[in-house]
Amino acid sequence: MKEECGVFGIYNFEADSPAKSVYYGLFALQHRGQESAGIAVSDGKDIRCHKGMGLVNQVFDEKSLSGLKGNIAVGHVRYSTTGSSVIENAQPIVIDTKYGTIALVHNGNLVNSNVLRQELKDKGISFVGTTDSEVLASLIATSIKEKFEEAVTDTLKHCKGAYSIVIMTRDQLIAVRDPNGIRPLCIGKLDKAYVVSSETCALDILGARFVREVANGELVLIDRDGLRSQTWQLEEREALCVFEYVYFARPDSVLHGRNIYETRFHMGKYLAKEHPVEADMVMAVPESGIPAAMGYAAESKIPYEEGLIKNRYVGRTFIQPSQEIRDLGVRLKLNPIRDAVRGKKVIIIDDSIIRGTTSRQIVRLIREAGAREVHMRISSPPNINPCYYGIDTASKAELIAANLSVEGIRKYIETDSLGYLSLKHLVKAISLPGKSLCLACLNGEYPVRIPERLQSLKLFFN
Ligand code: SF4
Repeated sequence: MKEECGVFGIYNFEADSPAKSVYYGLFALQHRGQESAGIAVSDGKDIRCHKGMGLVNQVFDEKSLSGLKGNIAVGHVRYSTTGSSVIENAQPIVIDTKYGTIALVHNGNLVNSNVLRQELKDKGISFVGTTDSEVLASLIATSIKEKFEEAVTDTLKHCKGAYSIVIMTRDQLIAVRDPNGIRPLCIGKLDKAYVVSSETCALDILGARFVREVANGELVLIDRDGLRSQTWQLEEREALCVFEYVYFARPDSVLHGRNIYETRFHMGKYLAKEHPVEADMVMAVPESGIPAAMGYAAESKIPYEEGLIKNRYVGRTFIQPSQEIRDLGVRLKLNPIRDAVRGKKVIIIDDSIIRGTTSRQIVRLIREAGAREVHMRISSPPNINPCYYGIDTASKAELIAANLSVEGIRKYIETDSLGYLSLKHLVKAISLPGKSLCLACLNGEYPVRIPERLQSLKLFFN
């Protein structure tokens, strides 16, 4: 599974330039996207934007940040789920509208963006890139509503899917979540500023106080009069992506009052209860598997040890993947500690199995390092359906659990045993009602209806 995007915004009531704060916020959200980064700032008259391909600290330096002056700002880190990885698709999207210039950042995917894009093209609107976010910005720009916030809510009524959006005008900051609240978004307070962010870890880095989450179907508007809110649309149920808890969010973030590390630890404990096995050590596939491995070790009383070391500096690079790099495969990222695993019965904890190829390579690595037995435990249920809401999983044909039984997967990844956490215990570990979570890739119950054309596409293509 690949990360999605991270959004960040700040409204400073003092005329202090917030570009550096956004920079640090994006730095904390870097795990959500490493392909491009961007910041736009308003000084009340003009909006200036700087964006580029690469990591936050590759895109920005002192010079580029010092050129971004103003008191309102939005920022974005991107992993491409729709649209290719090119500068035209980097965010913020900045466009001129009859409401003035706006800058928009978005996390999520619209399931009806192709239809909306075509409707806009029919009206003579042209596009620079290929993202849903540009469709959203163009829809707002072409609204017939008089007030800007009405243009936003009017636009969103036509948009189906997942979106946490932050929009800046010259003098306002708007944060809005889709009616099901599939992607996270929270509000913080920092001295004389309001901050909005995909995750609380970005508030912490600035020393901002967590205020609350933006509710599903809520629009929050911040201007010189302060913060006000409206519920623009309420669906029957909230459906926060369960994989925020399993994999995406940083362990030090808090979502719906649940610390991510704690929930992963509990997933590991339940996993040990459901799938015990006699072994000498518990280890994790770093890094998202670590809290669950610790939970498994605590429950099973089998010692937790580090058995795999991750090269933290392997991110997305501009180097085209060559055959040589492909052959190195998982070795480029992970290296076993031979002395730790040699001669032992090992339990490896990972958060998910998507295609199975990485898991198989990891199992082979551990065996080559001398492990006597290798048992794989997964801290989520089998992933049997594609995601249409902004997570880059795989097509149905590529999802191993959609095509093989657990025993078939065990044979494919060459482990001595394999066990998945049940859906019931996943939900228990998070301790939120199952109905308030999106579990679609695990149980097929999509909170937003998926158009048939898109469904048939995702059978074979990601
Ligand atoms: S389908 Fe899966 S990955 Fe996609 S939003 Fe729902 S729970 Fe998250």
